[in-house]
Amino acid sequence: MSLLANQIPSFISAIIQTINDNADEVAELDRAIGDGDHVVNLQRGLEALKNISDELSSLEWSPALMKVGMTLMSTMGGASGSLFGTLFISMAKHAKDKTLDFTIFAQVFNQGVEAVKQRGKADLGEKTMLDTLIPVAKTLMIDSANDVAFAQALDNAKVVAIRGMQSTKEMIATKGRASFLGGRAIGHIDAGARTSQLMICAIADVLLKD
Ligand code: ADP
Ligand code: MG
Repeated sequence: MSLLANQIPSFISAIIQTINDNADEVAELDRAIGDGDHVVNLQRGLEALKNISDELSSLEWSPALMKVGMTLMSTMGGASGSLFGTLFISMAKHAKDKTLDFTIFAQVFNQGVEAVKQRGKADLGEKTMLDTLIPVAKTLMIDSANDVAFAQALDNAKVVAIRGMQSTKEMIATKGRASFLGGRAIGHIDAGARTSQLMICAIADVLLKD
């Protein structure tokens, strides 16, 4: 298995579809404990990616990921714009001159998530997108080290992403706007954890169909 950048347009379409399908729910989540703009920020970034998807598919992985990151950074806004931007820019740096087989991809994704942790000064359990991203990075690293078949690893990543997203419901937020609410944030899933999970599941489903 190796990932090819010509798969990027199908990833982008699948992500746009799932974010649009769940836009009302995500807006509601961010309205409950944030300022309500997360899904609109993300949709603006995804639209910008759609506009350059042909160009992206003609690039190698590293420059493609760099362009994705820079585009999200400059179009999304919000805390999530700089954090998703950081994820892809860091992945681009670590993917340089590499073929993205499963093991390398797991490492590159894990390094991207580490960069998000540093940028957001946040970690697991703070009710953010990291509660989805960190467990997925961990499970990919473990499964690739144990030679788990790629399709099984994708299924595992989906399960872990959903569990991570759901885990934010009972958390108090210590980072981002929701941290201003203290205990009142309990009972609401974090919007960025939800969109991260939706995007990971969409990409996994595209790959599982191939
Ligand atoms: P803003 O909070 O600036 O309005 P968005 O609404 O686009 O930005 O994104 C909010 C999401 O960003 C949150 O749901 C959370 O997942 C994520 N987030 C916010 N601050 C941090 C942080 N310091 N580290 C990681 N993720 C964060
Ligand atoms: Mg917001």
